[in-house]
Amino acid sequence: TVAHNIKVETNGHNNNNVHENKIVNEKPQDLQEARRQLPVYMVRNRLLEEIKKHDTMILIGETGSGKTTQIPQLIHEQRLEGAGAIAVTQPRRVAAITIALRVAAEMNTEIGSIVGYSVRFEDVTSPRTKVKYMTDGMLLREAILDPLLKKYSIVVLDEAHERTVSTDVLFGIVKLAQKERNEKKLNPLKVIVMSATMDVDSFKKYFNNCPVIYLEGRTYPVTIYHSKMKQEDYQYAAVCTIFQLHATAPANHDFLVFLTGQEEIETVMYNIKQIAKEATGPPIRVCPLYAGLPPAKQLQVWRDAPPGTRKIILATNIAEASVTIPRIQCVIDTGVVKERTWSGGTGAERLSVRATSQAACWQRAGRAGRTQAGAAYRLYTAADFRARPMHQTPEILRCPLASTMLLLIAAGVEPSTFPLIDTPPPDSVKASLSLLKELGAIDSEVNPKLTVIGKKMSTFPIEPKYSKVLLCAPEYNCLDEALSLIAVLSSENVFHTPMHKREEAIKMKQKFLSPLGDHITLLNVFKAFSKAPLKKQWCKENYLNHKNLTYACEVRQQLLAICLKLNMTVTSCGQAYDQVLKCLLCGLFTNCAWQRGGAGGARAAGRYVTAAGAAAALHPASALQALRPPPPALLYSELLVTGRSYMLTVSAIQPQWLQQVAPEYARRCRANR
Ligand code: ADP
Ligand code: MG
Repeated sequence: TVAHNIKVETNGHNNNNVHENKIVNEKPQDLQEARRQLPVYMVRNRLLEEIKKHDTMILIGETGSGKTTQIPQLIHEQRLEGAGAIAVTQPRRVAAITIALRVAAEMNTEIGSIVGYSVRFEDVTSPRTKVKYMTDGMLLREAILDPLLKKYSIVVLDEAHERTVSTDVLFGIVKLAQKERNEKKLNPLKVIVMSATMDVDSFKKYFNNCPVIYLEGRTYPVTIYHSKMKQEDYQYAAVCTIFQLHATAPANHDFLVFLTGQEEIETVMYNIKQIAKEATGPPIRVCPLYAGLPPAKQLQVWRDAPPGTRKIILATNIAEASVTIPRIQCVIDTGVVKERTWSGGTGAERLSVRATSQAACWQRAGRAGRTQAGAAYRLYTAADFRARPMHQTPEILRCPLASTMLLLIAAGVEPSTFPLIDTPPPDSVKASLSLLKELGAIDSEVNPKLTVIGKKMSTFPIEPKYSKVLLCAPEYNCLDEALSLIAVLSSENVFHTPMHKREEAIKMKQKFLSPLGDHITLLNVFKAFSKAPLKKQWCKENYLNHKNLTYACEVRQQLLAICLKLNMTVTSCGQAYDQVLKCLLCGLFTNCAWQRGGAGGARAAGRYVTAAGAAAALHPASALQALRPPPPALLYSELLVTGRSYMLTVSAIQPQWLQQVAPEYARRCRANR
């Protein structure tokens, strides 16, 4: 997705957000009893003493010990936050939402009042909110407007071991804010860094030798089994393992399977349901859990299956540490994760399936020992495990930094002196600054200052490439279309393709298909959705995802509000879609690809080379797949690397357009080709 996070108007708890606000259905007294059982609760007094005593501390504790849900509540019960609020950051949106809902239920209050959450495109807080769960990206956005974070007296940076770019940058922001608030004699800022497992030494050093508190976990032994042989197909191996275990494990044993993403989870889910019809063993309930899943469906994960039924949870790495699922006896670990990487030199951004770190493998295995002894089945060999790196490389060392750099510059920070735990490779900093320069956001790559357009770009919570598209849109008479398109690109997949009705779903998609490519196809979908009177029913009939399209509508509203604040005029180009594509190219000119060996060559058909010089193919799901002859030049939104490189969300462009919208870049591309 293109968006990061957004600052929106507070709309309290009578908002019409897309999430259903109730996912906890236990009774209040049961919730209180459960709280008292948590390791954090047992040592609460000592913890509170430490929190009172120190301005900064690190808290390490097993996943499920109650750090995220309890610490903010304990602080609030003692009113340690004073007049300010407590911010608790999470790398993931789903985690921020589900945890806030859980905590609101535990405190027996409505979400959006004392307890709230704030995630990209959705703010469920009010002026009364004291405990605010938010994505790390959201707090970072707030920091541009107020680098001292004056609203907060306590900032809890949770899941620090994930080392997302936003959390890493926040470490620096809170450090500077603490210092400056002290110097200006403002109320002090307390910082609590929380994590399951992490490289404590570098953190301790970074935070000037602050105290580290270790929570005693309550864990039961987990027996680890490794594959004897290397598995060629981990999805297949996972399904086989599930059914081998299913045949003999007691029915009340629940399984947790780690996979990489939504599509994979849906495929495996379908396969399990098919095989389960004929397999020996108790009835099965399969529950998916991934970032884009609607909260109503997430609830399934925490609901007990009927007695005698086995629950099998298929999750991404979100179940590794961010959320805790009780009663898992058996973990099946494919040992892979989908990760965004980037090569600074070529500027190619990629999403690839990679082996997890040893730390992540242990985290995953640990999910089996929360309530009783369990087992973890690793679908990789012991030798493979030993060959893995201890920790995942922090995101800041492998991700595009353009939007982070833009934020830092907007916050008035000089990127080269900003204190970071790990300094990103100079190449990568240079490439992001040069992209920002190319987009016209900064005046110079050395000692950069925001330009007028750059300042506008920084107010949009989306990638600079896309905010540039919006800012260029009035010139192409297509702000209306650009808003819709970027809103759809910011949401998860809008097409709903159930495995068993694949053919029908694909047939339905034809209706929206544009020969110009996926972007206009998405625009067609969005336009039709906006006009449909009975949206839910209409989506069902057309195999579209109602939730994701509704979300896109909200995103569009938020983006529109920013455009209007910037005095931009919203006009439509009607059917002149060339305008939309040219406008898209204004921001995405680095995402061009040309047919290999020039147009026409039969052998080269469908094989492309990107502006960065990498070979890439059209994704099989692209609307352009059927187009003959294949277009000579393309524009893509994403490059997916899974063995082969696939371009996702692709449109056909005229080769000369690049020359028109980004002449300097076009010249450089020609020189490289
Ligand atoms: P930590 O942050 O230390 O990993 P949490 O505070 O997230 O721990 O969770 C503490 C406990 O609260 C978990 O062990 C789990 O039993 C329970 N819990 C948390 N979230 C939910 C939820 N959405 N539904 C049911 N139980 C939950
Ligand atoms: Mg936690």
